[in-house]
Amino acid sequence: MPDPEISLYIDGAFVAGRGTRRLRVLNPADGAPLADYAAADEADLAAAAGAAARGFAVWSRTLPLERFRLITRATALIRERAPAIARTLTLEQGKPLAEALREVQLSADIIDFLAEEAKRLAARGVPPRLPNVLSQTVARVPVGPVAAFTPWNFPANLPARKIGGALAAGCSVVLKPDEQVPGTALALLRAFRDAGLPPGVLNLVLGDPPQISSTLIAHPAIAKVSFTGSVPVGRQLGELAARHLKRYTAELGGHAPVIVCADADPAAVAKLAVPAKFRNAGQVCASPIRFLVHRSRIDAFRDAFVAGARALKVGNGLDDGTQFGPLIHERRLAEMQRLVDDAVACGGRVLCGGHRIDRPGWFYAPTVIEGASDAAQVQRQEPFGPIALLDAFDDLDDAVRRANALPYGLAAYGFTHDLAAAHRLGQGLQAGMVGINHFGVSQPETPFGGVKDSGLGHESGLEGLLSYTELKLISVAAP
Ligand code: NAD
Repeated sequence: MPDPEISLYIDGAFVAGRGTRRLRVLNPADGAPLADYAAADEADLAAAAGAAARGFAVWSRTLPLERFRLITRATALIRERAPAIARTLTLEQGKPLAEALREVQLSADIIDFLAEEAKRLAARGVPPRLPNVLSQTVARVPVGPVAAFTPWNFPANLPARKIGGALAAGCSVVLKPDEQVPGTALALLRAFRDAGLPPGVLNLVLGDPPQISSTLIAHPAIAKVSFTGSVPVGRQLGELAARHLKRYTAELGGHAPVIVCADADPAAVAKLAVPAKFRNAGQVCASPIRFLVHRSRIDAFRDAFVAGARALKVGNGLDDGTQFGPLIHERRLAEMQRLVDDAVACGGRVLCGGHRIDRPGWFYAPTVIEGASDAAQVQRQEPFGPIALLDAFDDLDDAVRRANALPYGLAAYGFTHDLAAAHRLGQGLQAGMVGINHFGVSQPETPFGGVKDSGLGHESGLEGLLSYTELKLISVAAP
C-alpha cells in the first residue's frame, strides 16, 4: 500500500499540508481509493523554498566525496526497499509489478551514475593574459535550489533524474511529484532521510500544480526550474521561468516515428516493437507511435505486430504475468476514444483494440490503426496511451520527411540492415535521441532530451549533471 499518511516533506520532517483542499490517490486498476491527503498552502510552499535555501547553504559546501558517500547510502536503501517501493508504484500508477521493480532499480542506477560523475567534474584552467594573475579557473558550481516538477508515468525514474542530478551537483530541491503518485516519490525521499541527508536539502510538496509552480518559480530562493510533462504546461512554466530569470530545463512530449526499411526483418522488428509500444500502456514520452513501414514489408510487419498486441496479457499490475495495465485516469479513456473515432473518420482502419476493456479500472485495449490520413488528430497529437499508427512508404527520403514533419523531436527509431541507410536515418531524423535497430535510447549513462517542441536541455548522463551547475570564473592575482 502507499503510505496512507501521504504528506509533504519540508525541512527534514513529514508534515501534513495546511491547505483546505484534500486530494485522493486512486488505484487505476480498479478505481479504489488508496490514500487521502491535504494539499500544501502558500505558507507550506514558502516554508519549502526557505528550507531549500538553508539546505543549499549546507549541501553546496559539503565535499563532493561526502555527498557521493551519502547519496550512495541512499541508493543502497532504495535497492533494499525496491520490492516494497515497486508495489506502491504499481498500486498508484498501474504498471506491471516487474516493470515497476525495474524502474525502481534503474532509479538507483541513475542516481548512482550522476553521483559518480560529480566526483570527477573538471574545472578548466585558462592561461592568464595579465602579468600578475596567477590562475584563472573556470569552475562548475551548483546552480542553487531547484524546483522540480515530475509527472505520473515514471513515478520513480523521473524524480530520480532530477534529484540525482541536483544532489550530485550540490543543489537542494523542492520536488512536486504528480499528485496521483506521491507514495513512490515519498519512499525515495525517505531513503535519503534515512541515509542522513541534512534537513532542507530535499523537500516535497503536493497540491494545486499551477499554484505550486507559480509560487515556487517566483520565489527568490529558487534558482532553477526543471519540468517533465506536456508541451503546453512546459511552455507555461518556461514563460514563468523567463519572467523571473530562472534557469530552465524541460523534458516534454514526443510523437516518435519508426521507419522500418525494406531490408529489415519485419517479424523481428514487430517482436521488439510490441513491448516498446505497449510498455506502461503507451504512457511514455519516447513511445514509438508512427510506424512507417516499407510497402514491400508492411503485410508481414502488420501480421506480427497486431498478433503481438492481441496476445498481451492485460490485467492488474500486481497479478503474475501481467504485461499491460490500466491508464492513469478515467479521463484518459475518453481521450483515447476521441482520438480513435477521429482517426476512423479520417480513413483509419482499426486492426486491433480501439475500445475500452470491459472490466473495472481504466483499461484501454492495445490499439493499432492503419491508414489514418494526415488530417487525423492522432497523427499530430501525442496520444500518450496505447495507440500505434501504421502506414506504408515507398521512398526512404520521403519517410524521413514524413517522420520530421511534426513540431516534436524527442525520440525517433529506424530499422535496417544496411549501413548507409542506418547513417541516413541517424543523421536525417530530427530528434534528441535516435535508436537504430533498437528502442533502448533511455539509459542512466546517456543524455535524455528533445529538440523542437520536445524540450530544452537534458537529463541523465553527464549532461544531466551539468544542467545543475553554473560556470564561475575565479581569477587570482598576486597580492
Ligand atoms: P496534464 O498536463 O494535466 O498533467 C501532466 C503533469 O503536469 C502532471 O503531473 C501535472 O501535475 C503537471 N502539471 C499540470 N499543470 C501544471 C502546472 N501549471 N505547473 C506544474 N505542473 C503542472 O496531463 P495529463 O492529462 O495528466 O497527461 C496527459 C498529457 O501529459 C499527455 O498529452 C502528455 O503529453 C503529457 N505528459 C507527458 C509526460 C512526459 O514524460 N513527457 C508525462 C506525463 C504526461
